[in-house]
Amino acid sequence: MWHQPSQPALHPRASVPIIQSHHCATTMKVIPIQHAAAAPSPADPANRPAPGLALFDRRGRNVRDLRISVTDRCNFRCVYCMPREVFGDDYPFLPRADLLSFEEIVRVAQLFVARGVRKIRITGGEPLLRKDIDRLIGMLARLDGVEITLTTNGVLLPKLAQRLRNAGLHRVTVSLDALDDTLFRRMNDADYPVEKVLEGIEAARTAGLGPIKVNMVVKRGTNDSDIEAMATHFRHSGHILRFIEFMDVGASNGWKMDEVLPSRDVIARIDRVHPLEPIDPNYEGEVAERWRYKDGAGEIGVISSVTQAFCSTCTRIRLSTEGKLYTCLFAQAGHDLRALLRSADEAASVDARLDAAIAQVWQQRDDRYSEIRTAETAALRKIEMSYIGG
Ligand code: SAM
Ligand code: SF4
Ligand code: SF4
Repeated sequence: MWHQPSQPALHPRASVPIIQSHHCATTMKVIPIQHAAAAPSPADPANRPAPGLALFDRRGRNVRDLRISVTDRCNFRCVYCMPREVFGDDYPFLPRADLLSFEEIVRVAQLFVARGVRKIRITGGEPLLRKDIDRLIGMLARLDGVEITLTTNGVLLPKLAQRLRNAGLHRVTVSLDALDDTLFRRMNDADYPVEKVLEGIEAARTAGLGPIKVNMVVKRGTNDSDIEAMATHFRHSGHILRFIEFMDVGASNGWKMDEVLPSRDVIARIDRVHPLEPIDPNYEGEVAERWRYKDGAGEIGVISSVTQAFCSTCTRIRLSTEGKLYTCLFAQAGHDLRALLRSADEAASVDARLDAAIAQVWQQRDDRYSEIRTAETAALRKIEMSYIGG
């Protein structure tokens, strides 16, 4: 097996078991819309489900984060996610009738919240392409005690940021893979200029959707030449730039281990230009390993999805656009909830059956893909990132 879990040198977490996972943060407390991010307090009783309702999987992990994919479509064709050769004009995207309605999504979300979910991330495909997405945000924002976030490629934010904020969205994460315009257009393969994403980030800041995280997927030999420029650009901005290792999600991005640039190399390269020092996680189970510039210019994060294995604190579950539950980003199959959601039975009985299904799926969960990744598992037919969301 070629995968050797390792840590960037010098980080305080280098010699201790890492309580970290790569696709999203965990254990966040509700963030009031008007205020900056509060320190999460998993010990706070307000953050716990009623006794008897908390769900634990076979590895003792409870369910805290729900990721909801609202579309499998996208206006980009990022080479590492939706390569145009596969996702071309004739690609069979889901028909409208197969998509969960907002009411169906909220019904499932509500049951998860009763079971302990405290953070909901809206994703896709490109979630801002879903018609009236702000209406869904408004409906989810009414759920008690939940932080609502959204991941986007950013180009529709100038049009939608304020509406999303008014609807109750707390924060956004914006993906941007290069600052060099030619390189960025090559990465998104849809001819979108860098400027459009930067305008989106600015619109999100103006609307109060911060602190904004900016995600850069690093593909060795493709966009790693822009690491230092990205770091320099976002210093002093207040945004948190995060470098994500290229992952073997899906079955169409032609992933190869030698195209993964380990996070420790990213840190070493930035450190040479702008000296860095490690900082402690904000909370247990935080997704990114945090570093800050020694001169006070801000902080960055690295998400070592491949070179470090840290499934032990993974508290995420994913709801696909068509209503399937996935307990791991690298899953090959999901558990359908849509048939139940659309059954003609009495509402209370459907809710009880949905809740039982959710409990069963989570309690049987044993996933730890990143810990056991091999060349063989990387070649398996896994669900696509654009279908399940990041
Ligand atoms: N379209 C939105 C966007 O790009 O932000 C949301 C969906 S996208 C699937 C969510 C995140 O997954 C993005 O930050 C994207 O860069 C990341 N992603 C997609 N494919 C990836 C891969 N193969 N490895 C690592 N990250 C990936
Ligand atoms: Fe679209 Fe996001 Fe995938 Fe890029 S990473 S193709 S923007 S879903
Ligand atoms: Fe990622 Fe799956 Fe491990 Fe969670 S269990 S950290 S989704 S590989």
